[in-house]
Amino acid sequence: MRSLYIHFPFCETKCHYCDFYSIGREKTRPEDAGTFEKSLVAESKREAHRLSSQINTIFFGGGTPSMTDPDSMARAIEPLQLGNRVHAATEWTMEANPSSVDRDRIKEYKKLGVNRISMGVQSLNDERLVALGRVHGESQALSALDELFSAGFKNVSVDLLCGVPDQSDEELEAAMKRLLSFPITHLSCYLLTLVKGHAMYKKLPDEDTQLRHLLLIDRVMRENGFEHYEISNFCKPGFEAKHNLAYWKRQGYLGLGPSAHSYDDQAQMRWKNTSNLARYAEILEQGESPIEWNEALSAEQLEIERWMLALRLSEGVPESWLTSSNQRQKATIYHREGLIETHPNDPTRLRLTARGFALSESIMSGLIH
Ligand code: SF4
Repeated sequence: MRSLYIHFPFCETKCHYCDFYSIGREKTRPEDAGTFEKSLVAESKREAHRLSSQINTIFFGGGTPSMTDPDSMARAIEPLQLGNRVHAATEWTMEANPSSVDRDRIKEYKKLGVNRISMGVQSLNDERLVALGRVHGESQALSALDELFSAGFKNVSVDLLCGVPDQSDEELEAAMKRLLSFPITHLSCYLLTLVKGHAMYKKLPDEDTQLRHLLLIDRVMRENGFEHYEISNFCKPGFEAKHNLAYWKRQGYLGLGPSAHSYDDQAQMRWKNTSNLARYAEILEQGESPIEWNEALSAEQLEIERWMLALRLSEGVPESWLTSSNQRQKATIYHREGLIETHPNDPTRLRLTARGFALSESIMSGLIH
C-alpha cells in the first residue's frame, strides 16, 4: 500500500455537527494520550509489512492531530520507518485546528516530515462558530494561518462550511476572500448536514440557498485561479489532495488508529478498526487485531463505486461507460439541464458541471442505474 492514514482521536471539544470518531477534552482521562501512543506503536508494528517501500501519501487525520505532542507522535509511528519509505514527492498532510496551532509544535511536525496542513477553519463569523460548537474565533483562525505560513508551510488547505444556519451569501463570499488573501493552495467546502432531530436541523437553509452557496463558492474559487477538481474540493493547479485522490481512484491505503478504514486494492478487501479507544487499546494489548469488520467487495459494489468515484472528479467518465439506453437517455436530459457536459479537453468524456456537482447524488443514481 502506498498511502497511509492515521486517526488521532482527541479534540478540544466535540463540535455539534461532527460524526467522526473523536473524544473531547472533557471526556478524556489523563492517561488516554499515553494509552493511544502505546496502542499505535503496537498496531504500527503489526501492520508495517503492508506498506510499500515507497509511500506516496500520508494523512494524519482525526480528531485533531495537532493536539498531539510531536515527540509522542514520532514514537508512535517509529515502527513504520517512514523515513525510509517517503520520497521527495510524498505528500504528508496533518489536520490542524486553529485552537491547537502552536508555533513550536508546528516546527516539530515539519521536522517529522509533515509538508501539508489541512486547517479546519469552517467559518470566519464568531456567532456561526459558537453555534457550530467550534472553540476558535475568527481572529484565532487568521493568526493560526499566519503561523503556518511563517513556519514555512507552502501547501496549506482550509476547510470551510456552507449552508450554515443564518450564513448569508455576503458573509460566505467575504470569508472566502479573506482566506484567499493567504497563499492557500487548496480549499475544501462542505455543505453542513445534520441528522433529523438535531437542535439546529430546522434552522438549516432551504435547498435553493444551499445550491446558491455551492455555486457562489464555485464562482469565487474559479475567479481566483482554483480548479474545481472534486465535488467539494478546489485547488491551485497541481495542488490536488493526493491522498484523497488515492481514495477516489481506489488505490490501496492502510488506516491505523481507532475507526480507521483500510483498502487493499489487490484483494479488493476493505476493513475498519473499532471506533472505541478503550477497546482498541485493550485488543492490541492482548496481541490481537483491532479490526471490527472486513468485506470483500462484490462485482456489483465495485461497479457502483467505479461510477460514483469517477463522477466525483472533474475528469469525469468515458462516454463509453453509458451502455444502456436508459443511461444514454438520462445523460441527454442531464446535458440539456446543464448538469453534465462534455469534458472541454477530451470529447470522449462526460463530467458534472458546477450545478451537477451540487446535485451530484441524484445524477449519480440516475446514470448508474
Ligand atoms: S474538531 Fe473536527 S474532528 Fe474534532 S469534533 Fe470538531 S469537526 Fe469533529
